[in-house]
Amino acid sequence: MSAFLGSGASSDFSTSHAWGDVCGENRYGDDRLREECGVFAVFGHPDAAALTALGLHALQHRGQEGAGIVSYDGHKFHAERHLGLVGDHFNRGDVIARLKGRMAVGHNRYSTTGEPSLVNVQPLFCTIDTGGFAVAHNGNLTNAMTLRRDLIATGAIFHATSDTEVILHLTARSQKRRTVERFVEALRQIEGAYALACLTDNMLIGARDPVGIRPLVLGRLGEAYVLASETCALDIVGAKFEREIENGEVVVISDTGLEIHRPFPRRPARPCIFEQIYFARPDSIVGGRTVYSVRKQMGAELARESLADSDVIVPIPDSGVPAAIGYSQESGVPFELGIIRNHYVGRTFIEPEQRIRALGVKLKHSANRSVIAGKRLVLIDDSVVRGTTSKKIVELMYEAGAKEVHMRIACPPITHPDFYGIDTPSKLQLLAATTDIEGMRAFMGATSLAFLSVAGVYRSCGYTERDAKMPQFSDHCFTGEYPTALTDQTGDIPSRELSLLAEARP
Ligand code: AMP
Repeated sequence: MSAFLGSGASSDFSTSHAWGDVCGENRYGDDRLREECGVFAVFGHPDAAALTALGLHALQHRGQEGAGIVSYDGHKFHAERHLGLVGDHFNRGDVIARLKGRMAVGHNRYSTTGEPSLVNVQPLFCTIDTGGFAVAHNGNLTNAMTLRRDLIATGAIFHATSDTEVILHLTARSQKRRTVERFVEALRQIEGAYALACLTDNMLIGARDPVGIRPLVLGRLGEAYVLASETCALDIVGAKFEREIENGEVVVISDTGLEIHRPFPRRPARPCIFEQIYFARPDSIVGGRTVYSVRKQMGAELARESLADSDVIVPIPDSGVPAAIGYSQESGVPFELGIIRNHYVGRTFIEPEQRIRALGVKLKHSANRSVIAGKRLVLIDDSVVRGTTSKKIVELMYEAGAKEVHMRIACPPITHPDFYGIDTPSKLQLLAATTDIEGMRAFMGATSLAFLSVAGVYRSCGYTERDAKMPQFSDHCFTGEYPTALTDQTGDIPSRELSLLAEARP
């Protein structure tokens, strides 16, 4: 690998001489090795970069720290990477005009703690033996630290702190002849979650990990091909949804069309259940169902499992809305907007400091007294992580005159940390990992508290039951059953390095 480009707001570079800023980070960096992100890519369209910018707009909910696009115009690669929202930079004509070419790949990055830094904004780019190679990654590798340590020991120089960089190094070091073969050899060495969109000077590659933890879909826009994390990003550019990229599948898109590789032994898919619960946009189709209908069903199941005597069903907006509609329809109790959300403040989770996050909840939500005062409420949210949101909102409801506040959560208690990029915190910070239901209720100050069962989640997604031997989802957050090896957690990586992973989940 001749050079590495993981940073620099705007750059042009030929395939033979990549150029990059080098950010001053220590050996393993002071950032974390995790990503929860959105990817979008176009092959074979004159407006590839503009379409990619639109796609990233539609995927903004998957990451707000930074966004980047790399394009290729037949001679040169062009890159734009910026901190902030897609609309802050990529709605400018001059920025899009610099991203020439009929093929482009883009990325939205999510981060919750630590200094946001341009060095980790993707797509990452490097020049390897076979030419330029840009990678956009959604997910988190569970052996990145181990691989990184080995690579550094044998002379590799890392510029960014994201786990994605390992994939570039492994591809660069492969002795195989073709880029796809090199890339597949890299995939064979990594563990964990990945949905990848990669660009070379003649092809776009899409890949999902062997159990398909993070999502990736394929679309068509006329003759052009599109890859996206979610179907809502296909809709915004008018692309037709073809299908999900399957678990363990590598698709290669070039001028000769679509080529499919299956480098791993076939395994049943285990997509992340949290896409259905929280991450994906409600208008996206995941696993053949609209996320909105699944979330409504989760609310209906919750009403069947844990009905509370109440006057009104109130969602915690926006994430609790579809489940609250389902709960209201199933219970026959009216749905009201008892909480008004201020859309001009960022998501509470984005605030890195717990103190600030606590304040953020108040900034973000206001009580709509007219529907709350004197009422027995059922408050619905999609999930409880640390419990900060629930506690603040219960308080807000009592301040506004609620008589009773029954908390109902449209997913099971999150008792285990995630290592695949959904950014739940370390076990100690997960309320349900350290406290029983009664303790959580008391912490929140609610009249009663109930969670949807794991079986209820599966029913909402169209399964009659959870297959105990081979669960249909990655549901480790609730069950502790992780679908891949956790080499970095179980190996001999020193705690200082591991804490980079743990701290990723504040
Ligand atoms: P907490 O206040 O820590 O209990 O967080 C719960 C709130 O955060 C809920 O309203 C969820 O909608 C939202 N949430 C759950 N998981 C995540 C996540 N991984 N990233 C950002 N927000 C989340």
